[in-house]
Amino acid sequence: METKEKISRTAASIALENKYSAHNYHPLPVVLKRGEGVYLWDVEGKKYYDFLSAYSAVNQGHCHPKIIGALTNQAQQLTLTSRAFHSAVFADYAAFVTKYFQFDKVLPMNSGAEAVETAMKVCRKWAYEKKGVKESSAKIIVCENNFHGRTTTIVSFSSDPVARTNFGPFVDDGFIRIPYNDIDALREALKDNDVAGFLVEPIQGEAGVFTPDENYLMEAANLCREKNVLFIADEVQTGIGRTGSLLAVCGNCTCKGHCERQETFVRPDILILGKALSGGVYPVSAILANHEIMDVITPGTHGSTFGGNPLACAVAIAALEVIEDEKLTQNARELGKLFRKEMSELADKSDLVLKVRGKGLLNAILINDTEESDTAWRICLTLRDNGLLAKPTHGNIIRFAPPLVMTKEELMDCVSIIKKTILNFKK
Ligand SMILES: *Cc1c(COP(=O)(O)O)cnc(C)c1O
Repeated sequence: METKEKISRTAASIALENKYSAHNYHPLPVVLKRGEGVYLWDVEGKKYYDFLSAYSAVNQGHCHPKIIGALTNQAQQLTLTSRAFHSAVFADYAAFVTKYFQFDKVLPMNSGAEAVETAMKVCRKWAYEKKGVKESSAKIIVCENNFHGRTTTIVSFSSDPVARTNFGPFVDDGFIRIPYNDIDALREALKDNDVAGFLVEPIQGEAGVFTPDENYLMEAANLCREKNVLFIADEVQTGIGRTGSLLAVCGNCTCKGHCERQETFVRPDILILGKALSGGVYPVSAILANHEIMDVITPGTHGSTFGGNPLACAVAIAALEVIEDEKLTQNARELGKLFRKEMSELADKSDLVLKVRGKGLLNAILINDTEESDTAWRICLTLRDNGLLAKPTHGNIIRFAPPLVMTKEELMDCVSIIKKTILNFKK
């Protein structure tokens, strides 16, 4: 009786969603109801480890009390003024976030894709007004297999047919697509004097956690500087502690970009943030840049009704404080090393796992099957049954990205769930 009722609650919810929602996602069949820290509970009361963190938005863990406290406190005072008027908390946030990431100025938005659009607009305006590129001919270099969001312009320069098909006409002008992690291709593309910016993910998350060679970002940033081209880092997924450094462009450093190990820090001209900027509590995104770039934006040239709203600002300040207070960056770095060591051992033992790759707590395992196979999907279903939620990116890659508040004991518990699942899996 109990079992029957359990099945029906999950099934009913999925059926309702399928009937009334656009089918723009293919979720793992689990219906969630509550989250706390690294844990999620479904409508039947079953408890899981979250090993996706809403695509790295929930770095600070689900429903973090400090962030929820800031949200509810601000919600009772003021939620939205629009930027037609000033708000005290926006001023505080602007000062806080620029100091935190060591940039002169911030431009607040809501979603990651909006922040990417904002970065491209600022880059183009800078090209015409500061670099002297001829009107309407600025180009931005992007990479194969990029993921920067879903707007019409962004899908125009995507190389993923699923993201593009039947969404044309595309914005064909103004983008040059080159292979990722290919410094020679970048050098070649930079010969075009109309190039204004290079937009890049420090690690390609959606492409399957593809980590570039050690010196790629540093060399790319240097080439851009030589050519007076803006180096634009999309850290929407990789930023804010996820990869074991505050930003993935920080390399192996946990500082904020100006410490004794500065030589390993690649300073983007424009930094794009989203996702964990709010700890997964509320849509908050931003771009950060220094005066000479950000000052091309003047009243009326860009905006957003909700961008920089009081609720978002209060939440973001709390979310960034949690990263520091709880030393989540360091934790991600240490647990990441342990996790990859354990997964490499598993890869040695199992024919099913080819290898593990990643940085900090943004990792993926490659499953020994074709992209078209459903093996990774079925492994994720079994992981779910065993109490851990993860999802394939592409047919044969499983991303593992738990909240950064995980303890070593919890991580080892997860490792044993993954090992048990893989070692007992029948293809
Ligand atoms: C998720 C993501 C985006 C888009 O963010 P949305 O909030 O979904 O619009 C952009 N860039 C990267 C690297 C991302 O991972």
